[in-house]
Amino acid sequence: MIETKAYAAQDGNTPLAPWTFNRREVGPHDVRFDILFCGVCHSDLHAIRNDWFDGIFPMVPGHEIVGRVVEVGEHVKKFKVGDLAGTGCFVDSDQTCDNCKNDLEQYCPHRVFTYNNLGFDGLPTYGGYSNTIVVREEFVLHISEKLNLAAVAPLLCAGITTYSPLKHWKVGKGHKLAVIGLGGLGHMAVKFGVAFGAEVTVLSTSPNKEADARRLGAHYFLVTSDPKQVEEAKLSFDFTIDTIAAEHNYNMYMSMLKTDGVHICVGLPDKPATLSIFSLTGGRKSLVGSGMGGIKETQEMLDYCAEHDIVADIEMIDMKDIEIAYERMQKGDVRYRFVIDMETL
Ligand code: NAP
Ligand code: ZN
Repeated sequence: MIETKAYAAQDGNTPLAPWTFNRREVGPHDVRFDILFCGVCHSDLHAIRNDWFDGIFPMVPGHEIVGRVVEVGEHVKKFKVGDLAGTGCFVDSDQTCDNCKNDLEQYCPHRVFTYNNLGFDGLPTYGGYSNTIVVREEFVLHISEKLNLAAVAPLLCAGITTYSPLKHWKVGKGHKLAVIGLGGLGHMAVKFGVAFGAEVTVLSTSPNKEADARRLGAHYFLVTSDPKQVEEAKLSFDFTIDTIAAEHNYNMYMSMLKTDGVHICVGLPDKPATLSIFSLTGGRKSLVGSGMGGIKETQEMLDYCAEHDIVADIEMIDMKDIEIAYERMQKGDVRYRFVIDMETL
């Protein structure tokens, strides 16, 4: 067993605190890498607070994980000691279902999430707020040495979760894209939308994020608490990508779509949404969802980012300050992804 240092929540109501546990020994197909940086996703906060469902505790969150390989199993072919490596939202899947065969492991009914899940061995998985991790080779990603490693970490979730739907719905040149919510996912959606050639508007509740939105490449910025600005934006967009983590008014956002427009949900509020079907029928509009991305597409996204020099805008924090980061995240005060420096664990 590999003794592992971590920060864990012991239940849904107590702050994260230091905790030690054992990871499995490196098997013939496993890669072990020491974690250098881990991004802080809003999903971490949803999970430790039992927002979506009752979690498995103690819980070690974190699924934007990067580091260096320190050990590989005897059958591992793609990695060697010293390589950079990363892992995102899941660490295993059945590899036999139609989704897995089509490089959509994220939709495999037996996928194993990086934390707050049971692995095929029946044991809980523990995430990246820890100093080392053991993952099956097929679920480990290659990371370019060219980019700032800390700023690459958020690509493993915020990056792929926005890249994948923009690619799937072929968002690009000639399209007007609105990014709803300028946080971790939202700021990556702006970067990818701009890189793919779309005209990008940020729809935000925070007027003080306008300068940042424009610096990130957005062409327009709209404050959704101002009814006049919302009215003026009616029937404007081909696509809206919705990254909001809390309850919100879907009908208002649907009204800003053109005929045949597509509203892509990636944000995961804990409560069911209220939607008037009239907001779909009055314009043949679609409300769709997308989750993470498969391993092949995640590698493609990482390679694309290395080629085009795309990383997250990050604020580095010490492990002990995680609860402060959560409080700020809850208030929408994220600029634009917290990343934990694992040396501070
Ligand atoms: P985040 O960094 O906290 O950003 C969310 C942003 O939404 C905030 O910065 C804020 O932007 C806006 N917002 C927050 N509360 C709002 C409200 N009540 N009404 C309107 N806007 C609000 O969160 P994140 O890490 O990007 O994650 C966003 C959501 O995506 C979470 O629910 C997370 O669980 C989910 N997620 C889903 C997937 C997937 O596979 N589908 C993957 C990762 C995360 P403004 O200040 O600009 O308004
Ligand atoms: Zn995430």
